[in-house]
Amino acid sequence: MDIAPAPLRLRLDGDALVSNWRWLAVQGGSPACGAAVKADGYGLGAVGVTTRLMRAGCRDFFVSNWAEAAVLEPLLEDGISLSVLHGVRAEDMAQALASPARPVLCSPTQVARWRDAGGGPCDVMVDTGMNRLGLDWRDDVSGQIEGLAVMTLLSHLSCADEDSPVNVEQFARFRHLTRRVRAQRYSLANSAGICLGADYGFDLTRPGLALYGGVPRAEAAGHIRQVVHPQAQIIQRRRVQAGDAVGYNATWQADRDREIATLNIGYADGYRRGFSGRGEAHADGACLPLLGRVSMDLIGIDVSARPDLSEGDWVDIGYDLGAASAQSGLSPYELLTGLGRRFDRLWG
Ligand SMILES: *Cc1c(COP(=O)(O)O)cnc(C)c1O
Repeated sequence: MDIAPAPLRLRLDGDALVSNWRWLAVQGGSPACGAAVKADGYGLGAVGVTTRLMRAGCRDFFVSNWAEAAVLEPLLEDGISLSVLHGVRAEDMAQALASPARPVLCSPTQVARWRDAGGGPCDVMVDTGMNRLGLDWRDDVSGQIEGLAVMTLLSHLSCADEDSPVNVEQFARFRHLTRRVRAQRYSLANSAGICLGADYGFDLTRPGLALYGGVPRAEAAGHIRQVVHPQAQIIQRRRVQAGDAVGYNATWQADRDREIATLNIGYADGYRRGFSGRGEAHADGACLPLLGRVSMDLIGIDVSARPDLSEGDWVDIGYDLGAASAQSGLSPYELLTGLGRRFDRLWG
C-alpha cells in the first residue's frame, strides 16, 4: 500500500538554492565554490541538495562523518570530490580505504593512521586559532604531513560572522601556511568568510548556511534567497469563546469569541518551543498568529480572519530565517538542521 503524503511538508526552492550557490561562487572570487552538505544538507536532504548543486556545476562537497559520506557515494562521478571533515577514526578505516571520499585529517594521530595504512589522497585541516579540529598552525605542519598526497589544505574561521581582528589573524596565519605547506589547493572560507572579501577565497570556498538561505553577514542581505518553506495541514478547526484557553498550561486566553485551527507540526519536527506565543502562520498573505504553547506535534493558530480555511487545508509556517531566528531565539543553523524527519521534502 502506498503511504499517504505526510500532514506536514517542506517546499524546497531548487532555483533559490542554485542562485545562492552562484552568488557565493562569484563573491568568493576563488576558482571553485564547494558546498557543505553535512547534517543531511542542513536538514533539507543531502541527496536532493547535492544532486541539484552538481547539476549547477558544483564539484566539491563536504560532510562530517562516514555515515553521511555513504549516503552520497552513489552520486559521485568523475571529477566530483567528497571530503569528510572529521577525518578518520580507527572504526572508519575499512570504509574510508574503500571509498572515493577523502578524509580531512585533523590530528597527528589521524595523520599517522592514514599514512600507516598507505591511504592515498587526503585533505588536511590546520587549526589557525579556533582550537577545534586541526593540526596546530604553530607546529611543523609540512614535516607532519610529509609523504601524504594532500589534495586540499583547509582551515576554518571562528569569527567570520563578526568584524573581528581574529579574522585578519587567521587569514595571515593561513596565507603563511599556503607558502610553507604543499597541497594542490587551499581552502579557508565558509559562508561568512566568503563575505569578508575575495582574498579569503583562496582556491576553494566551503559555504553551507548561505546556500540554504541563511544570511551570514550584512553583505549577503538582498542576495541570498530563502530556500525552505514549511507547510502544515489543519487537523481541526474550532470556535472558542471569550475566556477559553488554548494549549498546555493555558497560557493563551481568548479575549472574545475566536476561530482557531490546530496544525500538524510541533517541537518534535524542529518547530521549537521558543516559538510559543511568538510564531505565526500565513495563508495567502493573511498573518495567522500562533496561540499559546507549541506542543510536541501540534500548534494552534488564530484563523478568525480566514473563514474559508477548514480541515485538510494547508497553511505556510512563518519560517523566514531572519524573522524566525528573532522570534525563537534559535540560530538559523539550528532552525535548518532541526527540521525533522516527518516532513515530506518536495523540491520545486
Ligand atoms: C560547517 C562547515 C562549513 C560551512 O560553514 P557555514 O557557516 O555553514 O557556511 C565550512 N567548513 C567547515 C570546516 C565546516 O565545519
